Amino acid sequence: IKQARLGVQGLAPYQPGKPVDELQRELGLTRVVKLASNENPLGPSPKALAALQLALANPLELGRYPDGSGFRLKQAIANKFGCALEAITLGNGSNDLLDIIARVFLGEGDEAIYSQYAFAVYPLSVQAVGATGVCVPARDYGHDLVAMAEAITTKTKVIFLANPNNPTGTWFSEADFHALMTRVPAHVIVVLDEAYGEFVSDASALNGLAQLGRYANLIVTRTLAKAYGLASLRVGYGVASAELSGLLNRVRQPFNVNSLALIAAEAAITDEAFVQQTRALNDAGMSQWLAATQALGLSCLPSRGNFLCVDMAAEAMPIFQALLREGVIVRPVGAYGLPNHLRISIGTEEENSFAINALARVLNQQV
Ligand code: PMP
Repeated sequence: IKQARLGVQGLAPYQPGKPVDELQRELGLTRVVKLASNENPLGPSPKALAALQLALANPLELGRYPDGSGFRLKQAIANKFGCALEAITLGNGSNDLLDIIARVFLGEGDEAIYSQYAFAVYPLSVQAVGATGVCVPARDYGHDLVAMAEAITTKTKVIFLANPNNPTGTWFSEADFHALMTRVPAHVIVVLDEAYGEFVSDASALNGLAQLGRYANLIVTRTLAKAYGLASLRVGYGVASAELSGLLNRVRQPFNVNSLALIAAEAAITDEAFVQQTRALNDAGMSQWLAATQALGLSCLPSRGNFLCVDMAAEAMPIFQALLREGVIVRPVGAYGLPNHLRISIGTEEENSFAINALARVLNQQV
């Protein structure tokens, strides 16, 4: 272990859950509903599925390396948002982009700022390159952008923001974002992680891509894993100035996005009807869960994502375990410093009902 860099020695490995079919067999369950990873309950965009089927009909291509520049996907993204190809960096999921950003801008002696309860990959990426993470206390479980501005020092190189944030679902306003940006020195990179951006239906909400012309130090990251339903294929993208994107692309592994992921993402990104359907399902499911948790006497953090962080008003781990035995997988968030909360992803109406009934049984057993 001593051979590993200090930052790596201090990392706790990611603890993946068991495969669903394995768990189902182990617990002798007839059905398992997984509401644990903020995936799209509709699966992939049908346009993506059709493109994948077409690709599999020409399997020889799969023996070749992918297009290392991701030209066609970048073109589709550029067309959709009216940005230049040079502004885009593709990632093996948006997690890959967070890692690339850390590798480009951070090293030993540098500081990166993020919020308490923010997405767990920020500290991982920061520590892995030997930099120091500065975790700023949250305000009402969300990012305290004023406190984050105050945490900037001469060592600060990167600020990570998640809007909406995972696991809390909290968000910040465009005005608060501008107030922060006016206090950030031009050489400090601001990463605006919009993994859940497509779920925000409010037209007045902050849209990172619309801010790129205004802030040369801004990188917006997005993913195909959530609203587009391509979590298993691993595709995300970053948009920034051509200069910043050029830096990210220097470090990016040339074949970081595989051919099937490129093909599926190119088709999915144009499938606005699917995103609308996803958003409508999410809005309805969110109302279903809010009503159900209220009826069970539980409160939730307000969320604009495709998940809810529910306060179980007790230690959440035993409730998580009891739900597992009922065939419902949710996400305990004790590792985030939220030992009494469970993060529950919004499913289909039927999956939600299954999980709500299980939760009601579990809670009654405990009362
Ligand atoms: N950012 C946030 C806030 C997330 O919740 C996630 C997914 N859990 C990601 C980034 C990364 O998503 P992916 O790598 O699947 O694109």
